[in-house]
Amino acid sequence: MLDSISKKTSNTGTQQVAILGGGVAGLSTYFFLKKAGFTVHVYERSDYQNNDGMGFLMLENGVQVIQEMGLEHQFAQVSRKLNRYETFSDPLHDSLDANLDGVYGVKRSDLVRVLRSVVPQEDIVLNAELDQLIFDEKGIAKTALMKDGTEVQADIFITADGVFSSTRQTLFPESSLQSTNNHEIVGVLPKHRINIDIGDAFAKYVNSIQGLNMGMFQLADGDLLWFMQVNTDIHGAYDTTYGTLEEYIKGFSTILPEPFYSVLMATDLETCYYWKTNRHDLLPSFHKENVVLIGDAAHPLLTFTSQGVNAALTDAKILSEKLAMFDQSLENRLGAFYAERKVEISQFIQQGDQLLEQFSNAKLQGIPLVC
Ligand SMILES: Cc1cc2nc3c(=O)[nH]c(=O)nc-3n(C[C@H](O)[C@H](O)[C@H](O)COP(=O)(O)OP(=O)(O)OC[C@H]3O[C@@H](n4cnc5c(N)ncnc54)[C@H](O)[C@@H]3O)c2cc1C
Repeated sequence: MLDSISKKTSNTGTQQVAILGGGVAGLSTYFFLKKAGFTVHVYERSDYQNNDGMGFLMLENGVQVIQEMGLEHQFAQVSRKLNRYETFSDPLHDSLDANLDGVYGVKRSDLVRVLRSVVPQEDIVLNAELDQLIFDEKGIAKTALMKDGTEVQADIFITADGVFSSTRQTLFPESSLQSTNNHEIVGVLPKHRINIDIGDAFAKYVNSIQGLNMGMFQLADGDLLWFMQVNTDIHGAYDTTYGTLEEYIKGFSTILPEPFYSVLMATDLETCYYWKTNRHDLLPSFHKENVVLIGDAAHPLLTFTSQGVNAALTDAKILSEKLAMFDQSLENRLGAFYAERKVEISQFIQQGDQLLEQFSNAKLQGIPLVC
C-alpha cells in the first residue's frame, strides 16, 4: 500500500499532507513542505487567542532554522539576544559568569505569530481538534476524525500535537510519559510593574541545598520572563492543600536573594504557569505506515535541555527534506527521518537525564550550566 503512495507522490503536487497541530513544529513543517511542492493543510485545536504560553530560550540550532525560513527580521523584532550567563550566590558554589553565543529569549506567542505568517489563511483550519485517526485493515491511516465530526483525508498525516499527543499513544501504546521530581513555575513580570533591568543576561540562582533554582531573562518588549525549578522531593508538589498557587509560590520567596526576590514578589503570581515536567524514552520509530510524529509529540524533552522548541524546528526541516526524496518509498523516507533525528534526540534525552540527576542531587554536584 505504501508503494502506491510513493508512486502517486512522484509528482509532489498530488501529495496531500495533513498536519495535526499548529504549534512550532506544525507551522514550520508547513513552510518547508509547501516549499518542496506538497499540498499541505494545518489543523489546529485552538484559535490562538488564549495561546499565550510564556516563553523560552532559543538556541543556535533553532535560530538557524528560523534563518533558513527567511524569518530572521521578524524574529529579531520579537526576540532578545542574551550574551551573558550569570549564576548568583549558590550556598555551596562560587557564582559563575560565562558568555553566551546564539541564545535568544522570546515569548511563545510572538514566535508562533511569526511562524503563522508563513501559512495563508486558506491552508490552516482553526478550532480543529483531532479526535482520532481512522485506519484501514492494513494499518494505513485514511481519515483524521475531528472532534466536531468533520473528516480530513490525506496521503500523509503529520501529528504535531505536543507533549500529550494522543497519536503517540495510538501508535505506540506501550510508551509512556514518566513524571519527574522537577516541577516548574513560569511567570512573566511586565516591565511597568517594577524597574529591574538585567540587560542581556540570562541570570540564574541555583540553591543546591534547598533544591530550588530560579532563572530569568528579559524579552524584546522589556518584560521579564522567569522560571523556577522546584525539587518536589524536598518541597512537595503544588496542590490545593497549599491554598492558592500564589501562596505556594510565595513559600519560596524567603530562599531567594535579590533581584530574584523582588521579581517574584512583583509578579501577579496567580497568572503563573505550573508545569509538571515529564521525561520520555526514545521511541523505537517516529512513524507507522503513513503517520509520522514530530516535535514534542515524537520526543517530549526535559525542560532542562531548553530543546523543546529548537528540536521541533529542526524536525520540521529534516522531515521535509526526507519527504522530498521522491525516488524513495514513503517507508524509506520516514525511516530516514528517524535514523537522522534519533542521534540528536538521544543525546538530548541523555543530557536531560543527567541534568535532572544533578538537580535532584545538587549538593553533590557542580552548578550545571542549564537553561
Ligand atoms: C500553550 C502552550 C504554551 C507553552 N509554553 C511554553 C513555555 O512557556 N516555555 C516552554 O519552554 N515551552 C512551552 N511550551 C512548549 C513548547 O512550545 C514546545 O515544547 C515546543 O514548541 C515544541 O513544539 P510542538 O509544536 O511540538 O508542540 P506545541 O508547541 O505544544 O504545539 C502543539 C500544538 O498542537 C495543538 N494540538 C494539541 N492537541 C491537538 C489536537 N488533538 N488537535 C489539533 N491540534 C492539537 C496545540 O494547540 C498546539 O498548538 C508551550 C506549549 C503550548 C501548547
